[in-house]
Amino acid sequence: MIKDNIKEVRKKIAAACERAGRDVSEVTLISVSKTKPIPDLIEAYEAGERYFGENKVQEITEKLPQMPKDVHWHMIGHLQRNKVKYIVDKVELIHSVDSLRLAVAISEEAVKKNCDVDILVEVNVAEEESKFGLATEETLSLIKEIAKLPRIHVKGLMTIAPYVDDPEDNRQVFRTLRKLAVDIESQNIDNICMGVLSMGMTGDYEVAIEEGATMVRVGTGIFGARNYNI
Ligand SMILES: *Cc1c(COP(=O)(O)O)cnc(C)c1O
Repeated sequence: MIKDNIKEVRKKIAAACERAGRDVSEVTLISVSKTKPIPDLIEAYEAGERYFGENKVQEITEKLPQMPKDVHWHMIGHLQRNKVKYIVDKVELIHSVDSLRLAVAISEEAVKKNCDVDILVEVNVAEEESKFGLATEETLSLIKEIAKLPRIHVKGLMTIAPYVDDPEDNRQVFRTLRKLAVDIESQNIDNICMGVLSMGMTGDYEVAIEEGATMVRVGTGIFGARNYNI
């Protein structure tokens, strides 16, 4: 049951925080509800969850009006520029900005809608070809450009680590993202903050927390396996 899964995930988050000498309040659990029906989201909501992550614009716009108003929606998937307009004033955080063109589109739409948009820059730390995200060494220069744009605010970094059997294999990926955030923070760029590190999924969120994650994105561990054929 979803409620039991959440209890288990919460327990593991607390244990990882304990090992790392961190307070649980430093880590936000994002329940990744993509492909899952509203009753599943409601069950998570009733178990206390308020942060939901989706990777498709259309799913966010469909689900949002069906859920209580105090849900915080996070866009965690690849975002196309022509869809920015549908979510820019609806989501709390866009985790997946990986190009200046996308950042410009978000900024322009935010100006139009008179709202502010918080984003993370997605870094492909492991340099997997199949994944979106910037190379580690491109990140700082992109951030310097985004910093000049109105109404868009960089709050930190996000990465999707490789799929591995042993989560320890991703420890270095998380460490690298954290180090990159520290390096960028030390540049004291106006309008740039590195407070958020969105890293860790069902298979590796405990290791990610030990390495400094402030947001973990857990789907399968809460809602069970996804069926993409329905
Ligand atoms: C689907 C997804 C997740 C959750 O993956 P699980 O392995 O099911 O926890 C996390 N982050 C992103 C960007 C995703 O697309």
